[in-house]
Amino acid sequence: MRVLITGGAGFIGSNLTRYFNDNAPDVEIRIIDDLSTGRLDNLDGLRAEFTEGSILDYELLSGLSEGVDSIVHLAAIGSVPRSVKAPRPTHAANITGTLNVLEAARERGVEHVVVASSSSVYGSNPSLPKSEFDWTRPMSPYGVSKHATEGYAIAYGFSYGMKTLAFRFFNVFGPGQPADHDYAAVIPKFLDAALSGRELIVHGDGLQSRDFTYVDTVCAAILEAVQRRVSSLDPINLAFGTNTTLLELIEQLELTLNSPLSVEHVDRRVGDVRASQSDGVRIREIFPNVQPLPLAEGLERTANWFKQKRGVL
Ligand code: NAD
Repeated sequence: MRVLITGGAGFIGSNLTRYFNDNAPDVEIRIIDDLSTGRLDNLDGLRAEFTEGSILDYELLSGLSEGVDSIVHLAAIGSVPRSVKAPRPTHAANITGTLNVLEAARERGVEHVVVASSSSVYGSNPSLPKSEFDWTRPMSPYGVSKHATEGYAIAYGFSYGMKTLAFRFFNVFGPGQPADHDYAAVIPKFLDAALSGRELIVHGDGLQSRDFTYVDTVCAAILEAVQRRVSSLDPINLAFGTNTTLLELIEQLELTLNSPLSVEHVDRRVGDVRASQSDGVRIREIFPNVQPLPLAEGLERTANWFKQKRGVL
């Protein structure tokens, strides 16, 4: 079996490559990544055929889709604030890029496509926890782009009978997630600050909550989706129904690092949703074998990776 991972040099993509190498060693991995946020050294020691290039280069993408059984489409410009600052690049990479991936799959007869959507599609819907059948109202260009990503994947299922699957990821974290840029996610930012002895910056009151999902849990669901050719004409929330506020996350990090942490509160960020939690129902129904790693254990593994990187473990 051959799988093309778009965005395979990024945080989730490189963890997924490792996960495939370890758990399905017969699967050949092909990667396309423009290295805009991904890094080649994320793939050090992994078995994968890497091509540097953009999914906006249709000819290149189409060629790489030849002879592939599944595409896992992760390439995107992530981050809500980045999209608020510059919507056009997000639109191009995430919406036109997804259309290119689906067209390449259709042209080359790729049987199965998994795409990465996001909990950000729920946007201003206040209900909690979220089911896939709740209404969506994205609050940022990024949320809109992920809505289009899943919309296109599902429409290709209806229009062309393609086997497509749209996972809505909720705050994925784990080893390899970068902390060193303006748009870094909260867990790597907090760990980096804590291990450097800096204050943890909290936007707003810290009572905003998230359904944090450890990256290997996400990888386990994607691997199973590829192996079983799972497809769906509705999206699937890839999260298990936890609800952790940033203040609770900080308390947990104090336990993980065995040290008190100081916090600075700054203005809340435009486009950020207040609470994000899946009901975890469909994922458990369709992937009963995928067991989420508890937050404390995931933080421990992530903190160890950060410490190793700094040479303090
Ligand atoms: P990431 O930025 O580490 O990975 C994205 C990868 O795509 C990077 O390697 C980047 O270089 C590559 N890329 C960007 N534009 C490209 C283009 N035009 N052509 C080729 N490659 C391109 O982010 P991630 O956290 O690994 O996210 C992976 C996917 O999951 C994204 O689609 C993201 O929107 C989605 N997602 C992630 C989270 C999360 O919590 N990390 C939550 C919801 C959704």
